[in-house]
Amino acid sequence: MEPKADAQRLIARGIAVAALGILALIGLRALTAAAPRPEPLDAPPQEFSATRAKAVLRELIDDGVAHPLGTAADAMMRERIVQHLQNLGFAPELQTGLVCNPGGVCGVATNVVVRIPGRQGDHDAVLLCAHYDSWAVSPGASDDGASVAAILEIARILRARPAAQHPVVLLIDEGEEVGLLGAQLFVREDPWARQVRAAVNLDARGNSGQSFMFETGSANGWLLDLYRRAVSHPATNSVQYLVYKLLPNDTDFTVFKAAGYQGFNFAYIDGVAHHHSAIDSWENADAGSIQHQGENALATVLALANTPLQQPPAGEAVFFDVFGFFVAAWPAAWMLPLASLTLLLALINAIRLMRAGAAPIRQLAWAIGGWLAAVLLSAIAGLALLWLLRYLNTIPIGAGSSWIAYPVPLECTFLLLAFIVLGGVSQLLARRAGFHAGVIANGLLNAALAVLLALKAAVAGFVFLLPAAVAAVTTLLVRADGGADSVRARLAVWLPVWVSAAVLLLVFWPLYSALGDHALPMLCAVTALATAGLLPLLGGAAADIRRGLLFGSLAGVIGGLGATIILPAYSTSWPQMVNLDYWLDADAGRSYWLARVDSGRLPAAIRKAAPFSARPQPLYWGVSRAAFMAEAPPLALAAPALTVASAEPVGADMLYRIQLRSPRGAPELRLDFPARTAVDQVTVLGANGSLPVRLGTLPDGTRSFDMVGVPSAGIELQFRVPADSHLVVQLYDQSSDLPVTAALLLAARSPSVSPWREGDVTVVKKSWPIAASAVLIN
Ligand SMILES: [Zn+2]
Repeated sequence: MEPKADAQRLIARGIAVAALGILALIGLRALTAAAPRPEPLDAPPQEFSATRAKAVLRELIDDGVAHPLGTAADAMMRERIVQHLQNLGFAPELQTGLVCNPGGVCGVATNVVVRIPGRQGDHDAVLLCAHYDSWAVSPGASDDGASVAAILEIARILRARPAAQHPVVLLIDEGEEVGLLGAQLFVREDPWARQVRAAVNLDARGNSGQSFMFETGSANGWLLDLYRRAVSHPATNSVQYLVYKLLPNDTDFTVFKAAGYQGFNFAYIDGVAHHHSAIDSWENADAGSIQHQGENALATVLALANTPLQQPPAGEAVFFDVFGFFVAAWPAAWMLPLASLTLLLALINAIRLMRAGAAPIRQLAWAIGGWLAAVLLSAIAGLALLWLLRYLNTIPIGAGSSWIAYPVPLECTFLLLAFIVLGGVSQLLARRAGFHAGVIANGLLNAALAVLLALKAAVAGFVFLLPAAVAAVTTLLVRADGGADSVRARLAVWLPVWVSAAVLLLVFWPLYSALGDHALPMLCAVTALATAGLLPLLGGAAADIRRGLLFGSLAGVIGGLGATIILPAYSTSWPQMVNLDYWLDADAGRSYWLARVDSGRLPAAIRKAAPFSARPQPLYWGVSRAAFMAEAPPLALAAPALTVASAEPVGADMLYRIQLRSPRGAPELRLDFPARTAVDQVTVLGANGSLPVRLGTLPDGTRSFDMVGVPSAGIELQFRVPADSHLVVQLYDQSSDLPVTAALLLAARSPSVSPWREGDVTVVKKSWPIAASAVLIN
């Protein structure tokens, strides 16, 4: 054997080892991407310190009591915020008003507003916003107390700094949880709202992880340029932004964006079990996440406050942070030309190597087929495995949240599933698709996908464009008469794979936190996309290596599945969310226990405590969310009262004025009009004028009006219906307590089962006919 060939082989082997090492490092970096270290208590005063912010947070939610809209604890929280701002030397203003959202949910919100003047007058203000209300079961430390504390830390810094060009308005609002009420009140009524040009919104959907900038105003390209220059630990990408836009989630930023504000939306999303739950406590709030969110907020507020804000240029950008070091961004309009150019280069490579006889058409067909098979089979295998696990009840079938306490074995399982497919496909390709055909196929297919995305979803196109571009350039250097062992050949395989793995893993790894188990088949498909470029090497490798990959991955998948089955789905630090309610149907004189279980699995102990239905089912019309139900002893609770105060004919309609009241003092009232009712709007008649409200529409067509924080005197509504209609409405009142007879049921809730959001509630329902003959005569 020639010594030169030996040396070549040695180098090639060295590259393979180094390449695997680099791939492992990329994976590790993607998997362990973390928020920066919190700055200490004695950090320089002009810098953001999460340790200081956490100390403020402790002051704010010291007692760990939940503080939903309209409660005394909520007023206390507001008072502490106002006090803190006054201690800093500000004169905070309170803005109070009745506000209703497009879902028909109303409440009286009180916002805390501070305006810090700019050097150049009152116009073009920058808004910094977080909400101080929580859900009824949650101390709301991370959502969104930590962001409120971050704003107070930023307020201190802004006070110590020279004024920015533009004013900065601090908005600490409430009613975000029940439906973005405070933000709507601010935009509707606050005199400063009209001067605001840009907003920075801070929220959380978990208690840890990096603070992602996941949404921008409409001048996306311009904003990205600002963000890129301002932020020292960037965490963002345009795929996230695209995914968020497709999800039904909302934050206050939705309201600001609708008001035409530019700006940024920040949140962290790891530890989603803490979100809206009793364990969203001060101890569990991650200081690193607060540091990341706070310093990014400070940096972007200052950047916005010191830049011209009139008519920023419109236009979308493609963007992503590179391992958190810097942000790469370019106009989305460049995607199609860039992707087309890459495809052209890939075709030139293909023609050159085919004409030199290095890649016969038959081999190329095999290589392309193999690549596509690896990706498609991985996606199918991922979906099939997810379906099987749900069917076997190994993972919850919950539509909303499907996260489990120990997801790592499951994530590894879906990742390794792609390598089983890769091993199998490479076995098929051996001696059928040569090395050159394989390299051409990988370049061509990545470029083709880049063109496809450039046409369909340009901002996501970079995940294929980058590996395609690298493949195009490295393939240019591959010699038609060379083998797979040359350094050039090895680089033509490994460089695109590194780039692909880095981009895809960095972008898609956080998707599990965002989407729950829906992300698992995606992880499998993405792993296949990132590693399909290895097929030309695997196809030509020794059969032992392919078999090793196949059976090694298979063993890993079996181990991962075994661990997932053995490990409990929930734990005390990752509890299952179960609300236990008492519902009284005052029409039928019957009562029910309702177990509202997000995961679809009723814990055995709770099932034992009452004769619950086998499956979740809806209770009445208008209650579209199904729950496990059991008969309960009827209690003599006063039903919510509806009084028809007046009925006046207006043309062919009747104009009704009704009073709604909860005699038992429940703080929430809901009025449901049956589906296909002619009523789509009611007017709330308040002491300070009236407010028209569009009714919300429930999935079964029910039109609903919901009032949170109802005064004890009740509320008055007015609406019109055709005079000849026979309308029967359902009125509910809801309180955050349970009758004493619930003790047995509550005792069945183990420490790994927890209430969430509004928690356990008592609901009383009564139907009321609406007719002119029902008018009270007094
Ligand atoms: Zn929130």
